[in-house]
Amino acid sequence: MSYIKLFFITLFGYYESWMLWLCLFIVILLALVLIFILSRGEEYKKFNSISLYNVIWKWKYKKNRIVSLWCYCPECGSALICDDEYCRSTITLTNKTTFLICKNCGESEKGRIVGGDRNYLLKIVKFEIQKRIKNGTYKNEAKK
Ligand SMILES: [Zn+2]
Repeated sequence: MSYIKLFFITLFGYYESWMLWLCLFIVILLALVLIFILSRGEEYKKFNSISLYNVIWKWKYKKNRIVSLWCYCPECGSALICDDEYCRSTITLTNKTTFLICKNCGESEKGRIVGGDRNYLLKIVKFEIQKRIKNGTYKNEAKK
């Protein structure tokens, strides 16, 4: 207590108990504001799955980047296999198709994306996720 008194005395030349309470109040207020700002900025990080192209996409965040993005079966939840062999043999963009296959469900097709290979697919899904984070529509998505 005497240190606190000394602090106020050196700063203002005198000490009264209300000074201490005012300081405590300001410190608590600042801490609350800081927590509020930080939690607001991180809120979108709860958004980590979405249904796109008939399959479930899951990912993690590393700082602000989307990492380990992959697709999962909407029926059994296991990781899907991305078949883009077909993309290499075709020349025109519209013929490029990537198939999403679930081994667990008898190698059945769960989704297909026309226009590119798996890198293309991951890019557009990432883009869709980032778009929803930016415009705030991910909040509706997270409730589903
Ligand atoms: Zn499945």
